[in-house]
Amino acid sequence: MPTVNLTSFKRKIKKEKTPLRRFLAKLETRQPKNLEEIKALSDKEVWASLDCLDCANCCKTMSPTYTGEDIRRISKQLGMSQREFREKWLYKDRTGDWINKKQPCQFLDTKTNLCNIYAVRPRDCAGFPHHNLKKMNADYMHMYKQNLEYCPATYRLVISINEKLGY
Ligand code: SF4
Ligand code: SF4
Repeated sequence: MPTVNLTSFKRKIKKEKTPLRRFLAKLETRQPKNLEEIKALSDKEVWASLDCLDCANCCKTMSPTYTGEDIRRISKQLGMSQREFREKWLYKDRTGDWINKKQPCQFLDTKTNLCNIYAVRPRDCAGFPHHNLKKMNADYMHMYKQNLEYCPATYRLVISINEKLGY
């Protein structure tokens, strides 16, 4: 049985994203002292029952940001020049970041949900959804608010924290 049902996730998030974002806004202004500990516990619980290979929604609906180092490493692996790689697959968004032209990501095998460049994938992909790296504070709460709409793991994380805090 798959650990993620994207159809049901999309239906639920449509209804729940506004109250969940409101909850995160509340957390941003009134941070419990042990929030990061609670988050770590919830994060562990989330990954114990979720397999990204049942999902790949990030690769299907979002783009990683490619650093110069990512572009150098991946283009070398593909036997392309960095320029050829950028011209074929990427564009600069309004903030100047290099991101994918197309969705799903050109490197996703949509039958298996595997990444065709897994060993050299962008650092952004390797760290996504960044639960361990980005604190739930004013600097990064916007990331949780955004990602909960696309990532079932972040959605479950926020629900679990909410339940633990009893807000
Ligand atoms: S990181 Fe999130 S969106 Fe990406 S595959 Fe895993 S659960 Fe799905
Ligand atoms: S590079 Fe790989 S991990 Fe990153 S979005 Fe594309 S398919 Fe997903």
